[in-house]
Amino acid sequence: MLEFRDIRKSFDATQAVAGVSLEIARGQFVALVGASGSGKSTLLKTVNRLVEPTSGTVRFDREDVESLPLAALRRRIGYVFQSVGLFPHMTVAENIAIGPRLTGEKLAGSRIAELLDLVDLDRALAERMPDELSGGQRQRVGVARALASEPRLLLMDEPFGALDPVTRDALGERVHTLHADLALTTVMVTHDMAEALLLADRVLVMDGGEIVADETPHSLLEGAGGEIAQGLVAVPRAQADRLAELAR
Ligand code: ADP
Ligand code: MG
Repeated sequence: MLEFRDIRKSFDATQAVAGVSLEIARGQFVALVGASGSGKSTLLKTVNRLVEPTSGTVRFDREDVESLPLAALRRRIGYVFQSVGLFPHMTVAENIAIGPRLTGEKLAGSRIAELLDLVDLDRALAERMPDELSGGQRQRVGVARALASEPRLLLMDEPFGALDPVTRDALGERVHTLHADLALTTVMVTHDMAEALLLADRVLVMDGGEIVADETPHSLLEGAGGEIAQGLVAVPRAQADRLAELAR
């Protein structure tokens, strides 16, 4: 469904992505993990062309994304922003409908209600303004908006980063279920290895603009993936060990 061929992206002296080649099959739930500044967001944004690579090609459904009209491309890709990014002067319903509206389609109220149902939000929230919602509710609206155009591909950039742990866990589970129910292909950027291990079926680790590990959660937990990947796995593992110790 998605193919990166030797993607490179430089910003002046900074090489944000330093030659990434990989394929993502239909139906996979991929987590892209790595330290801050490792190039995760930049790589993700080459798919919907929020970032133009310096060199290399991205293919979506076997088509070079450069060759697709931008609006059509973005309609086929759901994107959940790192910062939620709801328009503060628009209602929840208007925010959800913004993508289709940009390509001239008006979403029916019934469709908006359906999208609110999908992310477990009360339908009555449709007429609220974003600042009348909790952080978790706002991020759920962000997910509903990303799904409004019935995309087959869902890209999420640290979607749960700003949420409290309970909300974060609940929304992670919801997205996991939606991924399966809607037959999505999902790429989720996160700096949280625990989240990646729990939600994804494939974990890519980025460091210095390169993919340094490409493993299943199971193989990562068995010690595969190399030093950087194992350094990230060590964090939740040590926490789990300490909790187990406390419970004894
Ligand atoms: P991550 O998402 O892993 O935290 P990013 O992809 O955002 O990393 O950034 C990778 C590198 O590229 C960082 O050094 C960052 O400062 C730089 N970078 C990202 N976007 C820009 C930009 N628009 N202009 C200049 N430098 C950028
Ligand atoms: Mg980022």
